[in-house]
Amino acid sequence: MISIPDTNDEFFQWIKSNREGFIVNSDYASSNSGFPALHGSRCAHFTKDDSDFTKNFKLCSINREEIEEWVRRTDQRTLVSCKDCLSKGYI
Ligand SMILES: [Zn+2]
Repeated sequence: MISIPDTNDEFFQWIKSNREGFIVNSDYASSNSGFPALHGSRCAHFTKDDSDFTKNFKLCSINREEIEEWVRRTDQRTLVSCKDCLSKGYI
């Protein structure tokens, strides 16, 4: 199941409860070339007050295929993998 948190609190609650989960960071405008980006829940990039949830959104799921499929259906851009998450084996 994919969740899209509305607030930082919701988001951090989700990553705390789903340490093996996956997150896609993206923007509603589809204009940021660094997005959509795939991370693991344990990524050090996610700190408090991480982002503006009115401009950006985060897809959260414990199922990586589900989240990748969602991106393929809704976004023309290619999913980028977070380098830190790759090197740490989170994704
Ligand atoms: Zn990451």
